[in-house]
Amino acid sequence: MTALFPGSFDPVTLGHADIIGRASRLFDELIVAVMDNANKKTSFTADERVRFIERSVGDLPNVKVLKYSGLLSDCFLMSGSDIIIRGLRSCAEFERELDYARAFCASDRRVETLFIPSDPRYAFISSSMSKEAAVFGGDLHLLLPDGIIVDVCEKFFSGGL
Ligand code: ADP
Repeated sequence: MTALFPGSFDPVTLGHADIIGRASRLFDELIVAVMDNANKKTSFTADERVRFIERSVGDLPNVKVLKYSGLLSDCFLMSGSDIIIRGLRSCAEFERELDYARAFCASDRRVETLFIPSDPRYAFISSSMSKEAAVFGGDLHLLLPDGIIVDVCEKFFSGGL
């Protein structure tokens, strides 16, 4: 079975990397789909976000990273995936995600969503918190994979959020 893990990953965090590692053990193939949507402003380009993920989980042989724009349900069908993975950090997130999962399923009965609860060690982490920490000199080792910390810092030293 092939699973699709979609998101902004702006940038990938330890929380994302943990979900990728755990999902990769559940499925034959895991496709991490990086949203490339001109309407959503991101700090890193889609290519940078893809590179950061590849660098962070490059040791997992059944994980593939790609960019997508447009509807997630189209990406799902075109990539030949069987299931969508979403991470869950809180009940508030579950409330929001439930609507999306129902909408995907309403658009096409084949689109099922599987929620994976975050590891408690990473449940407080978000990409935006990591960017604030980068700007204000916080400890990024608690938030981001080691291999991307230098690049994330460089970005913010040269231009802020
Ligand atoms: P999106 O804009 O699609 O929510 P994100 O990059 O914020 O993109 O999140 C992508 C996925 O990763 C979502 O399912 C989100 O719940 C999950 N996620 C984000 N941060 C964490 C974390 N710290 N632990 C577990 N899952 C997370």
